[in-house]
Amino acid sequence: MITFEKVEKVYESRGNKVAALNGIDLEIKEGEIFGVIGFSGAGKSSLIRCVNLLERPTSGRVIVDGCDMTSLSVKEVREVKKNIGMVFQHFNLLNSKTVFDNVAMPLILAKLPKAKIKERVLQLLDFVGLADKADNYPDQLSGGQKQRIGIARALATQPKILLCDEATSALDPQTTSSILQLLKKINKEYNITILIITHEMSVIREICDRVAVIEDGRIIEEDTVFNVFSAP
Ligand code: ADP
Ligand code: ADP
Repeated sequence: MITFEKVEKVYESRGNKVAALNGIDLEIKEGEIFGVIGFSGAGKSSLIRCVNLLERPTSGRVIVDGCDMTSLSVKEVREVKKNIGMVFQHFNLLNSKTVFDNVAMPLILAKLPKAKIKERVLQLLDFVGLADKADNYPDQLSGGQKQRIGIARALATQPKILLCDEATSALDPQTTSSILQLLKKINKEYNITILIITHEMSVIREICDRVAVIEDGRIIEEDTVFNVFSAP
């Protein structure tokens, strides 16, 4: 579902070059929950952002659902991106908009009819267990609730892929667990492929099928979670 081929990412700032990804080869299969774990600065964020072109790889290819993202036109990329939802560490909700409007945003951008938007948003809020919060504002919600709204928004366009960028790192352990169970439910019920980046081993252990360990922009290990964590 997502293939990285020799992906390199070099940032240039003030004349300095920083190589964040040094030849990533990775294959994430349809329907799996795949985790990438590594320390801060290892390249996790750069890696996940190359999937939906929030960052463009310096070289190499990223193939999403059969489409080579790096060779598509702007218009084609926009189409493929409807198949990719993203969840962020700090939720990235619009604080001046209600919960309803936050979740509706991708559907408004996709120009869905109003009645359809309402139906879909209410269904999504029900799915994440926050149907009663539609008229609230994000700052009236707990962290866990904000992330549930972030997840509902990410699912609005019915994507095939969900990208989770440290989605539970700002949450306490109990809330983390409830969000991870929600992600598992999304994976099982809708067969959505999930790519998670995290620095937390517990996240990988709790829901991932396979894991890759990233260090200095290179994958140093890749296997089932069972094999990686039970190795002597
Ligand atoms: P992680 O998510 O694992 O913390 P990142 O992908 O954010 O890793 O960063 C990998 C490396 O790339 C780090 O050395 C970081 O400082 C550098 N980096 C990330 N983004 C930029 C940027 N926009 N400009 C310059 N360097 C960056
Ligand atoms: P979650 O498990 O979803 O994170 P919490 O257990 O943290 O939820 O919150 C329990 C209740 O407290 C929620 O119903 C929520 O409405 C309320 N609550 C939590 N944080 C806030 C806040 N910052 N402002 C208003 N209400 C809050």
